Amino acid sequence: LSSRAHRAQDTVVKVSDVSVGGDPFVVVAGPCAVESRDQLAATARFVALGGAAVLRGGSYKPRTSPYSFQGLGREGLGLLAEQRAATGLPVVTEVVDPADLAHVAEVADMVQIGTRNAQNYTLLREAGRAGKPVLLKRGMASTVEEWLLAAEYVLAEGNPDVVLCERGIRSFEPSTRFTLDLSAVVVAKRLSHLPVLVDPSHAAGQAELVRPLALAAAAVGADGVMVDVHPEPSTALCDAGQALTPAGFDELVTALDSLLAGM
Ligand code: PEP
Repeated sequence: LSSRAHRAQDTVVKVSDVSVGGDPFVVVAGPCAVESRDQLAATARFVALGGAAVLRGGSYKPRTSPYSFQGLGREGLGLLAEQRAATGLPVVTEVVDPADLAHVAEVADMVQIGTRNAQNYTLLREAGRAGKPVLLKRGMASTVEEWLLAAEYVLAEGNPDVVLCERGIRSFEPSTRFTLDLSAVVVAKRLSHLPVLVDPSHAAGQAELVRPLALAAAAVGADGVMVDVHPEPSTALCDAGQALTPAGFDELVTALDSLLAGM
């Protein structure tokens, strides 16, 4: 179902009223984690003003350490709903447990499956039945074929609205958190009709690398990027090193606009 043999034409996924796939290039932005009403409201306000089409924010955080901030859960979903109403931006947020799916899907315009659950077939099947588009991160150790087969689990439930997201893979290279695999974007778009986003924030783990990697993603034909933004990155409760400041987000959007205008 994900293959070009099944459907030659590019799929455009409607996330509320935002089209993901084809033109225009989509910027998804927001905090890695929803931390508080003020933090989310400030972030949502400036990403909306700065040109984001979709607001991101994790309320259930799949952290490597069980002692790290795990997200606000249901409370965070309520805050996302508030900012959806305040800014008009559709929301993408992650589900980590099938038990939370109904609540997440009530608020989310697109349900995110993260890299750590990219081969959680029960969750993928249930997300396929949740009635919302699904943003499927690539598993950090998944081949492109495994990533597309993970997408099949969602599609096979009758949900055609899957957006793929390359977010870096494990490699031997320690200078970035993961290795952004831009060749996988090109390969996935050649093999599949599904839209492909790139998350340079989680790939690099460093804010300085986000802009160049986002520009590279646009240059290789990604349909959009998803980036972490925080009003005060040094205080972020989750992945502080990779969050763009408001000024950094504006610079990113300006740079993307001028690159895309010349393409
Ligand atoms: C995220 O986008 O919040 C996230 C945790 O990403 P990943 O699953 O790619 O690590």
